[in-house]
Amino acid sequence: MKRERMYINGGWVDSVRGAYLPVYDPSTEEVIAEVPDAGAQDVDGAVQAARAAFDNGDWSNTTAQERGRILFRLAERVRKESAMLAELEARNCGKPIVEAEYDIADAATCLEYYGGLATKVMGHVNPVPDNALSLSLREPMGVAGQIIPWNYPLLMAAWKLAPAIAAGCTCVLKPAEQTPLTVLEFAKWFCDAGLPRGVVNVVTGFGETVGAPIVQHPDVDKVAFTGSAAVGKQIMKMAADTVKRVTLELGGKSPNVFFADSDFEAAIDGALFAVFINQGEVCSAGSRILVERSIYPKFLEALAEKSKRIKLGPPLERETKMGPLVSKEQHERVCAYIEVGKKEAKLASGGGCPPSLQRGYYVEPTIFYDVDNNARIAREEIFGPVAAVIPFANEAEAIRIANDTPYGLAAAVWSRDIFKAFRVVKALRAGIVWVNHMQPTYVEAPWGGYKQSGFGRELGPWGIEEYLETKQVYINLNEQPIGWY
Ligand code: ADP
Ligand code: MG
Repeated sequence: MKRERMYINGGWVDSVRGAYLPVYDPSTEEVIAEVPDAGAQDVDGAVQAARAAFDNGDWSNTTAQERGRILFRLAERVRKESAMLAELEARNCGKPIVEAEYDIADAATCLEYYGGLATKVMGHVNPVPDNALSLSLREPMGVAGQIIPWNYPLLMAAWKLAPAIAAGCTCVLKPAEQTPLTVLEFAKWFCDAGLPRGVVNVVTGFGETVGAPIVQHPDVDKVAFTGSAAVGKQIMKMAADTVKRVTLELGGKSPNVFFADSDFEAAIDGALFAVFINQGEVCSAGSRILVERSIYPKFLEALAEKSKRIKLGPPLERETKMGPLVSKEQHERVCAYIEVGKKEAKLASGGGCPPSLQRGYYVEPTIFYDVDNNARIAREEIFGPVAAVIPFANEAEAIRIANDTPYGLAAAVWSRDIFKAFRVVKALRAGIVWVNHMQPTYVEAPWGGYKQSGFGRELGPWGIEEYLETKQVYINLNEQPIGWY
């Protein structure tokens, strides 16, 4: 078993109190590594390093070209080591290796995108009426505290770090306690890539002991968080004391809406993909499947039938379509929801742990039907392979049910009628809406939620905005005294 250290101020360190936390392979339930179980003192060290790197000029004086090149070098390294990173990600998260390969490639693409965008940040000339030049300058926000979840560890690190580095911020990143390994590998290349010490710090540990101190630290200027709604609400409150800039991506209960005129085969495939990819551990999972009544029985039968053919198995086998859930805790959570579902609705398929897999936190793809939209399994984010199928009578009812949720991250609509599809797109209160597909995500397009799914947008030019302040500059061109007195 490997004992890892964390990366603070350009060096590899243990936690101040010398504690470690175990990291598991959820397919074998075995400990595969230990990482520092850090605390507030470690966070303080990391924040001071990030603060110094930001304030001492070295980093703030780097040109955008230089920061861009650092990101290109990091991307190149990720691509070169993608096989190793994908295997480690699959092993630590339990996700199928084929999916992990996409994640790693996407992480590299994100680094490249912001490497290019670094040199495209532009200010503005404000058309003020006097004899003056009024400018808006874009400047880095400062020290960014970044807290990420366990479902896409390296990819989420890239979503957070790449725009921050491009903008000229410095970072204190906390990976999820369950899945810190690929981020720690990534950090091994920071120095080679040209990142000065202190610019990016990685602190490992739990939310209460590392995450909260990051959010509360007076020298952190901005907090970027992806995770559960409950923690997001706490973060917003904690950040208020020091008026930090905050961006939150908090998951959802996203509706996937199927009209009778959608392509049937594509619809079944798309419904399964949207909710079972990555074992359903996806913030934008299409976990509420809304189906028009006229095709409801046929749709349900085909959905249940095809879901039974989804191959569960060890993450490193290439045929595997679903691996185990990330942790024992998550397994228990999801199984508890399945028990709730059995009382609230009818079970179409799944609902248990596959008998052939003796060890590992596996859960079968599970489909409930005739679910009332007020049921807990239709309202609460389960973050596992559990779908709630809900019938609807017509377009108006579909929209009403789809929007009847506190969340608003994502939604999808399936129809061959472009007029109807677009009417529904406009009516849906969600930050991302797909038509005739669900889940494709591109670094070029904005990502983020409406309502209680959070605020702020990641990716694309929107992503870097969240790490920039605007400074208004007024330059008087009038050489005479003001002449007021
Ligand atoms: P889950 O419970 O599904 O793992 P969380 O929202 O708890 O989702 O976790 C997402 C990230 O937030 C993780 O890195 C976790 O350590 C962190 N976290 C959890 N609790 C807190 C907290 N109170 N303050 C700051 N970060 C937290
Ligand atoms: Mg938690």
